[in-house]
Amino acid sequence: MLDLTYDAPKPKIIAGAKQDWELVIGLEVHAQVATNAKLFSGASTLFGAEPNSNVAFVDAGMPGMLPVINEECVAQAVRTGLGLKADINLYSAFDRKNYFYPDLPPGYQISQLYHPIVGEGEVLVDMAPGIARVVRIERIHLEQDAGKSIHDMDPTMSFVDLNRTGVALMEIVSRPDIRGPEEAAAYVSKLRQIMRYLGTCDGNMQNGNLRADVNVSICQPGAYERYQETQDFSHLGTRCEIKNMNSLRFIQQAIDVEAKRQIAIVEGGGEVVQETRLYDPDKGETRSMRSKEEAHDYRYFPDPDLLPLEIEQSWVDDIASGLPELPDEKRLRFMEEFGLSEYDASVLTADVANAAYFEEVAQAGDGKLAANWVINELFGRLKKDDDKDITDSPVSPGQLRDIIALITKGDISGKIAKDLFEIVYTEGGNPAEIVDARGMRQVTDTGAIEAAVDEIIAANPAQVEKAKANPKLAGWFVGQVMKATGGKANPKAVNEIVAKKLGS
Ligand code: ADP
Ligand code: MG
Repeated sequence: MLDLTYDAPKPKIIAGAKQDWELVIGLEVHAQVATNAKLFSGASTLFGAEPNSNVAFVDAGMPGMLPVINEECVAQAVRTGLGLKADINLYSAFDRKNYFYPDLPPGYQISQLYHPIVGEGEVLVDMAPGIARVVRIERIHLEQDAGKSIHDMDPTMSFVDLNRTGVALMEIVSRPDIRGPEEAAAYVSKLRQIMRYLGTCDGNMQNGNLRADVNVSICQPGAYERYQETQDFSHLGTRCEIKNMNSLRFIQQAIDVEAKRQIAIVEGGGEVVQETRLYDPDKGETRSMRSKEEAHDYRYFPDPDLLPLEIEQSWVDDIASGLPELPDEKRLRFMEEFGLSEYDASVLTADVANAAYFEEVAQAGDGKLAANWVINELFGRLKKDDDKDITDSPVSPGQLRDIIALITKGDISGKIAKDLFEIVYTEGGNPAEIVDARGMRQVTDTGAIEAAVDEIIAANPAQVEKAKANPKLAGWFVGQVMKATGGKANPKAVNEIVAKKLGS
């Protein structure tokens, strides 16, 4: 395990009119499995295709069609489970969740209620350097996504697009271990980061490939600790579930307004009723979608068309041995191997492509200097350039490594290096050749620097007198020499020679 000595953040306190309240939050995250084909058919999962062009007969619920499990979807769920340090269940089974909806032609969704493929795991949710909370994962199950009803294309008709029907989802269910809106967003970010490292979900929230049902309740200080000790839910308040959130910002806003709504009810002498709610970002409120009494009776039963899913431990072990280094491990290694601060290591490991780029730059060099250049210069420049991705960086890791090597060898100053970086960024080319071709090399030849210093001293006798009386004014001469040499003189050498000549 990792050697991380973290302080858990304090739970978010929300001031009520009469007393303080704490929040308890549990998330059900739906992550679309990154695969080419659907969970039980060979139809493509490509986003943005012509409506109803990626639909197999079984997706359309044609009578007599049989589902056939896609092995890659199972492998992806196992990979995700392993990435969340969870138990993998060698035996799992699919159940039918029955309900009618136009975008669900068979009249049921195939899911895993009683025997999910992944059991208990955990996620380390980072709040700030040194501050993180462990959020326990209860389970991950595989299920089918539904299609999309379109109500805004025609005044009298609704349309349905079944391209998404049957696409594999992983539903990742957390324990109610999340204690505030920021933490909920950080939890989803961390899940997304881990799944992107694993390649199991692209994490694109805008396309709906990652979305969350957010369960919120309030309790008095101390109640959550009693729940933790006993795992008895009766210590917690009644929860409401806010459905289908696909933005980190909205998740936070919705939790905040929902908590305030519940506080007002309880402090007003009422009781929170368990129900499903929707967040309206325009109005900044949640509203009831259906109460528990109106909840569907899904009449779950084992899907008779599918055998229980039995997988081999050796197959799981194979998948485990092919897992990439994950964000927590990578961050820790960057701190140890390159001497980076936790903050810099977090920034560089936020995305696996950034981390790979940095490692190539830092190879056999000064890790801290490399981190500085990647974070401050390169990321800054990419951001200014239409928020370009690192994979589209015009400066390759090799080129940046060469620029940094020129600085450490003393061939160019840090200031000239920035000019050089800009040239390489906009025009390309070999950094060392550019330095030679454009005469950017740092002047370390003390003879040349001495000559420049002498010239300036001779031309400014009044300044010399002043500087002799006040050594702080030597800086003026240094500046003049730098100007005269186009910034190419080695600043350390200039300082020494100026000091010597002024006799200070
Ligand atoms: P259901 O199947 O009815 O949605 P689950 O037991 O699967 O119920 O719980 C759904 C989610 O609600 C889980 O993420 C769980 O952590 C969370 N949860 C349960 N109780 C509470 C509570 N009192 N406050 C906040 N979240 C809760
Ligand atoms: Mg649920």
